[in-house]
Amino acid sequence: REELNIIQGALELRTKTVEDVMTPLGNCFMIHIDAVLDFSTMSEIMESGYTRIPVFDSERSNIVDILYVKDLAFVDPDDCTTLKTVTKFYNRPVHFVFHDTKLDAMLEEFKKGKSHLAIVQKVNNEGEGDPFYEVLGLVTLEDVIEEIIKSE
Ligand code: ATP
Ligand code: ATP
Repeated sequence: REELNIIQGALELRTKTVEDVMTPLGNCFMIHIDAVLDFSTMSEIMESGYTRIPVFDSERSNIVDILYVKDLAFVDPDDCTTLKTVTKFYNRPVHFVFHDTKLDAMLEEFKKGKSHLAIVQKVNNEGEGDPFYEVLGLVTLEDVIEEIIKSE
């Protein structure tokens, strides 16, 4: 029954983690901080269909900003504005969460906060060097809701 599925899904929020439902880094549509907002770049962003786009510097794992597609409203592709100009102007906060955050806690965070997207990270202390934060992917409110209402 549909209702039972939803209850089941809601109960699983206590055991499942953001890592279980996130979009892995390799599948994330992102943009380089040095991008120029010309016609081709802006078309690519629009065609991605995503509303929030992580901005990275040097490596994809180094996320420094979030671009909202609505931030492009006043950008004229003929001006070849740099992405930096836009992200500096809006200065959107980047919200990080740890990979083992349970979905019920994540849902509370999303309800409290302004943003419905978080970057998933973990502390990597494998290997020789110092531990470092490793970015694994992104999670949105939609991923959590999906977990509740998915029908199996
Ligand atoms: P909205 O529905 O608020 O317009 P959206 O369609 O861009 O936003 P969500 O609905 O929040 O995105 O998420 C839909 C799915 O897309 C989720 O699985 C989420 O993890 C994924 N997603 C969101 N943004 C990106 C992105 N930039 N790159 C890849 N996947 C993304
Ligand atoms: P995002 O969070 O992805 O940037 P948003 O803030 O524009 O998107 P939603 O998060 O989808 O919008 O909705 C937030 C609230 O604002 C919801 O209660 C929704 O019903 C309401 N809302 C969205 N668009 C409008 C609108 N054009 N006029 C009035 N209320 C709206």
